[in-house]
Amino acid sequence: MERLWAPWRMGYIQRAIKSGGREACIFCQKYRESDDRRNLILVRGRRAFVVMNAFPYNSGHLMVAPVRHVGDLTALRRDELYELSELTRLCVELLNKAYNPSGYNIGMNLGRAAGAGIEDHLHVHVVPRWVGDTNFMPVIGGTKVLPELLDASYERIYSVLPEEVKRNLRTPERRADSGTR
Ligand SMILES: [Zn+2]
Repeated sequence: MERLWAPWRMGYIQRAIKSGGREACIFCQKYRESDDRRNLILVRGRRAFVVMNAFPYNSGHLMVAPVRHVGDLTALRRDELYELSELTRLCVELLNKAYNPSGYNIGMNLGRAAGAGIEDHLHVHVVPRWVGDTNFMPVIGGTKVLPELLDASYERIYSVLPEEVKRNLRTPERRADSGTR
């Protein structure tokens, strides 16, 4: 079990960030904002969404979170559970196409003691695995991941998104002064 759950115990996610003196939830903030590419959001559902882990354990490390700010698994409603599962399934489908990994670790950490980086907002980790990848894991586990690598990963997964999923993504509004020439 220890081995199975190790991937996201060592690679903590993103800390809650301070904004205006209070702790903001990174999941809620990203979902609220309108630049999905910058925020690494890949799928926007009604009840759940998919975002790339900015500190990935492996290439293509995705997270599925409910839209609602909830940290208690037992408090999830049926429609939220359904979409969380459906988007987890979609993650595997997308990653199969984009990366064709040899396996996956999928699961969630509930509570700080279990290694949750953000314990107030549930999220399912979807981590692609390759045979032998444990050999270089500790290296990237302790190293900062370059933004370029994240962008490349985003592009790679974005390119296999179904059109109807792409349509739901938010892009920053065009500046008013860039309209006419
Ligand atoms: Zn939240």
